[in-house]
Amino acid sequence: MQTYDAIIIGAGPAGLMAARELEANNVDYLIMEAKSKIGSPLKCGEITRQDTFLELFERTDYFFIKNKISNISFRVKETEKVIKKNMIMLDKPQFLRWLAGPIENNLMLNTKLEDIRHKPDILQISTSQGTFHAKLVILAHGTKYNVQKTFELVKKDIELVPCIGGLFENTTLNQNTAYFSYDEDMGIASWAFPKENNIVNAGAGIILKSKEKENPNLRESFRHLMNQLEIPLYGEPCYAGRYVTNGPIDRTYSDRLLICGDAAGQIFAGIGEGIYFSLKAGQLAGQTAIKAVKQETFNKEFLKEYETHWKKSFGRQLDAGLILTTILFFLMRHKLVLKALESIKPKEIFDIWFKGMVSVRLKLFYYLLKIFGCKLKR
Ligand SMILES: Cc1cc2nc3c(=O)[nH]c(=O)nc-3n(C[C@H](O)[C@H](O)[C@H](O)COP(=O)(O)OP(=O)(O)OC[C@H]3O[C@@H](n4cnc5c(N)ncnc54)[C@H](O)[C@@H]3O)c2cc1C
Repeated sequence: MQTYDAIIIGAGPAGLMAARELEANNVDYLIMEAKSKIGSPLKCGEITRQDTFLELFERTDYFFIKNKISNISFRVKETEKVIKKNMIMLDKPQFLRWLAGPIENNLMLNTKLEDIRHKPDILQISTSQGTFHAKLVILAHGTKYNVQKTFELVKKDIELVPCIGGLFENTTLNQNTAYFSYDEDMGIASWAFPKENNIVNAGAGIILKSKEKENPNLRESFRHLMNQLEIPLYGEPCYAGRYVTNGPIDRTYSDRLLICGDAAGQIFAGIGEGIYFSLKAGQLAGQTAIKAVKQETFNKEFLKEYETHWKKSFGRQLDAGLILTTILFFLMRHKLVLKALESIKPKEIFDIWFKGMVSVRLKLFYYLLKIFGCKLKR
């Protein structure tokens, strides 16, 4: 049986970006995707930062960029705080298919990972299409954590926010503003991001846990929040996936294994922003994999450089996201989100989200929550 230099699991932003790196460096690799088509169904708000997009792809005039936004509004009831930041709206399925262009020949669709095991000098990868061997695996299969638990890379319970969402037509939403709104009575946060031709990507997530998989109030609360924003919705939201809120897993590498994107918990937890972090982590994992293949060295001591690199690149931002989430969970639980929004300065929101800088008073608040045992439990 052929042994590949590397096998990537998952063709989302993280896996595709890693594959592009391997492709450009003539590594012998495969990328496996469980679904029959890349990028669908849509489970994303599709918004990302313009500056980091430019850093990775140099231009913002691609066909899959559908809108440019410069205001981000946070609302609770009638109270609103607006920050200025240039963001772009992707057509994410189109974007992912564009990303996949150069790696198409090595892509296996309808191939679902079932298990990964260490064998002497290789990893054995069991999938729905049979067994494969690789010197190294890049795990980028989204919010699934079984393999990471088997390899003892995650000890904590993973907290995931379930969401509903979709694309809606005929809205009167301001095309230049992305909206976040919070329903503190229901413990629900919603988003509404305008795309082209008066289409809006909108949805909601359950910040506070309900015993049921989908909180029965979620749809109702979502409609209510959209009414407040005066967005007439035509169509029903669907289940839109889950995002992880307790930050990166304990270790994102092991012998012959690198983990990136949602599979590594690399998401800005307080907001649920993960496209950029997944792309960047995929790129960095790909670069480490290339070095490992060239030097035929796959032990964890060598692969550790990947974790050092991503922490240097965006670790501080993810740490700030965790602080924001801890505070948000507390505020939601005690119905204090409106009060907090009234008192917070737009600059504090901007700095924590985009610079990973937490103001002294937010830091103090966070440490007080920690001292009084407030855990990252939804
Ligand atoms: C409702 C919602 C809205 C969001 N909105 C935004 C937003 O507006 N902006 C933003 O920046 N981020 C947003 N995010 C987060 C963002 O979507 C993710 O962080 C990002 O897509 C993660 O990329 P990934 O490649 O790590 O994982 P995914 O995008 O989840 O890709 C993983 C891929 O692996 C495949 N896969 C899964 N299991 C297997 C398996 N066993 N075998 C083979 N393949 C498998 C999946 O089919 C998928 O194609 C949102 C998340 C959610 C849930």
